[in-house]
Amino acid sequence: MILAPGATVGILGSGQLGRMLAIAALKIGLRSHIYAPEAEAPAHDAAMAKTVAAYDDEAALTAFADSVDVVTYEFESVPTTTVEFLSQLKPVRPGARALALTQDRLVEKQFLRGLGLETAPFADITDSGALARAVAELGRPSILKTRRFGYDGKGQSMIREGSDVAAIHRTLGGGPMILEGFVAFEREVSVIATRSLEGDVVAFDLCENEHERHILARTRLPARVAAHVEAQAKDIARKILDALDYVGTIGVEMFVARSDDGAERLIVNEIAPRVHNSGHWTIDGAQTSQFEQHIRAIAGWPLGTVTRRGEIEMHNLIGEDADEWRDILAQPDLSLHLYGKLETRPGRKMGHVTRVITGAAKGR
Ligand code: AMP
Repeated sequence: MILAPGATVGILGSGQLGRMLAIAALKIGLRSHIYAPEAEAPAHDAAMAKTVAAYDDEAALTAFADSVDVVTYEFESVPTTTVEFLSQLKPVRPGARALALTQDRLVEKQFLRGLGLETAPFADITDSGALARAVAELGRPSILKTRRFGYDGKGQSMIREGSDVAAIHRTLGGGPMILEGFVAFEREVSVIATRSLEGDVVAFDLCENEHERHILARTRLPARVAAHVEAQAKDIARKILDALDYVGTIGVEMFVARSDDGAERLIVNEIAPRVHNSGHWTIDGAQTSQFEQHIRAIAGWPLGTVTRRGEIEMHNLIGEDADEWRDILAQPDLSLHLYGKLETRPGRKMGHVTRVITGAAKGR
């Protein structure tokens, strides 16, 4: 099903990603309707309609489906049952499969391995006995992660020399987990790519990312890797998109490590079945943004070109960083984005700032 201008995109979730998706939809003549349990949230300001209801409220979901032409989601913790329910009523893009797969770190890693891609070594942790055996096998440091509901470093803990493994296991809740061998990476990169309804894939240039306290702090482009490694990273994203018969924008996080012979090697860490924080630079720095690409894809429209406008630096404004908004506005080469969040909390993503250094600016 292909949307006509004026049609409505339904978005599950009300965070900043939903907000930026709604703004992108407006730009190309589409409307959006946000569905989320939160009454006050960043996406609501940008959308034509909102439904404030629980993700298992079938009456509200049915009314929502009736009022939209296609459904998408802006965060990966939406219950798969919600997406499956909506799928019977309206097209949901990307579908339930990508969501289910990325909600479980073990299933996700097994899928990546099944595609022949390199991941960190990992073990399925069903109980404390399995954990003890896995720590012996994968060594220390290693990282214990809950299989479900982890993001921005939540639900994971490092097992070091001398760590009390049983205590870490208990602190994480004792449920099903995955233990990952520690990757001594040189840098972290991500590919943001989009697949259309017809199966065309367009990838943005490779992003190089720095995290602080497990939260993305900065993204820069070009990433400092060899050209063939960047091409390989884009191929990996394409492989994942095709295997999932995916429609929309995806973020694939990878580590760049060195082999014994000194060659750069890509190790896939995680898939985000949605637009991604490391792709925020595309609003200011690319011909078509990751948000517009996503909307185009789920609308059944052709994808745009993603030519990069220059060298890029994107900084997240986390917590009180956003208090600097006046100073940022005073700098002519910075583009400020604030998400309209009324309460500043430590660790909360309040906005971001992008600097695009064009050839002309470099020469000045
Ligand atoms: P994740 O929640 O899996 O995206 O992990 C958050 C961050 O923790 C990553 O961006 C890395 O900086 C670090 N990390 C996660 N897994 C590993 C690993 N197996 N080896 C080394 N660092 C890791």
